[in-house]
Amino acid sequence: MESSLIIKNADVITMDGDKKADWICIKEGKIFALGRGSEYESLADDTVGIIDAYGHSVLPGFIDNHFHLVKGAIFQGFISLEEASSFDEIGEIVMEARQKSGENYSPENPILAYGIEPEKLKEGRYPKREDLDRYVSDVPMVLYTKDYHVMMLNTCAILSFQIPYMLPGVIMDKKGIPGGVFVKQAAARLEEHILQKYHQKSIVKKIGDFVPEILGNGVTTIAAMEGNNYITSFEKERESELVLKIADNIPLSVELFYQTTDTEIVKRRGLNRIGGALYLDGTFGSWSAVNSFPYADKKDIKPKLFMERDYIDALAERCCREGLQLSFDAIGDVAVEAAISAFEKQKDFYDVKALRPRIEHCEMISRQQMERAAKLGMVISVQPAYEGRWGGAGGMYEERLGENYKKTNPLREMKDCGLVLCGGSDYNISSLNPFEGIYYSMNHPVKEHSLNLKEALAMYTIDGAYALGLEKSRGSLTIGKNGDVVVLSHNLKDVTGEKLKEVHAEITIRDGEIMAGGR
Ligand SMILES: [Zn+2]
Repeated sequence: MESSLIIKNADVITMDGDKKADWICIKEGKIFALGRGSEYESLADDTVGIIDAYGHSVLPGFIDNHFHLVKGAIFQGFISLEEASSFDEIGEIVMEARQKSGENYSPENPILAYGIEPEKLKEGRYPKREDLDRYVSDVPMVLYTKDYHVMMLNTCAILSFQIPYMLPGVIMDKKGIPGGVFVKQAAARLEEHILQKYHQKSIVKKIGDFVPEILGNGVTTIAAMEGNNYITSFEKERESELVLKIADNIPLSVELFYQTTDTEIVKRRGLNRIGGALYLDGTFGSWSAVNSFPYADKKDIKPKLFMERDYIDALAERCCREGLQLSFDAIGDVAVEAAISAFEKQKDFYDVKALRPRIEHCEMISRQQMERAAKLGMVISVQPAYEGRWGGAGGMYEERLGENYKKTNPLREMKDCGLVLCGGSDYNISSLNPFEGIYYSMNHPVKEHSLNLKEALAMYTIDGAYALGLEKSRGSLTIGKNGDVVVLSHNLKDVTGEKLKEVHAEITIRDGEIMAGGR
């Protein structure tokens, strides 16, 4: 372990105003000095480690503001169906993976896979249980969509999980029995059953194996959205409690969003934030995001908010009263409206701005809503890589939203309205490498929504720190702040267009210690 490090030959982008430097010194875990030329030589002695950045850009350690640590670690072991283009291909991939793995699948150890998107399948719909039974009928099999909002089960899984039929989200077939597609609370309950099959020890091990990969991508802080997404579920504390227990023992800064609506729990745990991926609505992909206009490809569908407006308002009031930062997960403009107006109702009674209330995703937001949210000092936690996957002409968003696809994730306008934006991967919906999100925020498929490089970087550094109330200690390379630093694979000045996607972390330093890479 080195007590001090100097990074020389660097293009240091401090994210502290426009300050630049070409070397930086980290001592005792903090940024100690930075400057230009050869001044660093006076700081270099035998105890100081020297890193040559070879002219590459150096940035503050990245902050991923929407992450799922427990699920992310567990889902890594799932079979990927992202390449499947028909039910038969799903069957083939699963059967091959089953054979290869040599696993003994059983009700305690079901086949788990993810990555289904109905528009990518020849059949153009979710597979039902009969469809899945054709490939696997002897053991339970559970498939997730790419956005994790829909689960598909074969008959064996339906029988073994025994989800109560009256839970919202059990889609029945013509015979009046579950057809195999589960959404909302039913999916949440199923997921709990699945996660419970993993013992704490095995989850801790999976997280331990996963963390180096996160650090390897230059990410030194994550906003961990843990626990359940619905207020009706049971065992909601398990994942959050686990993360709290292990957070100090993993070499990554984990900022927990305890997904509960019980303010007493978070206060007892000494947390000053609550919520996270606390669903007010669903996703465009699963036709469950609530918009003020009908779905272009399913006009008869009328999704509803997942929580009553009164409940949302009361929760916002309670959090304001108790001084907690509250985050809601809202995608459609009706859900976004519910979040904004809940805080608006509190603005005459509490200092809402000081609490930095957040909206996760916030994909459909009108100009008027942006202005109101900005007035309230709200923070918008965006996933620009969604646009790369689903946005633009011909993409899934256009299929679902028609012409309104041009309005999704209007980063430019949100920024211009004075909203603070922070960026996240929603791993594993997008890559661990923040440059995927940085690229799509600068190259939004709807050009006028794009940000510039500095704004895009800010979402993953200084504004990302602000979103977590940590801007005094993280997010920029400023003397006295934490020694979280990333040396990139390129000098960003030399990188244009698509090449930006290739940029990655070469060396990751957290609290002054090299965590990944290094020559
Ligand atoms: Zn999420």
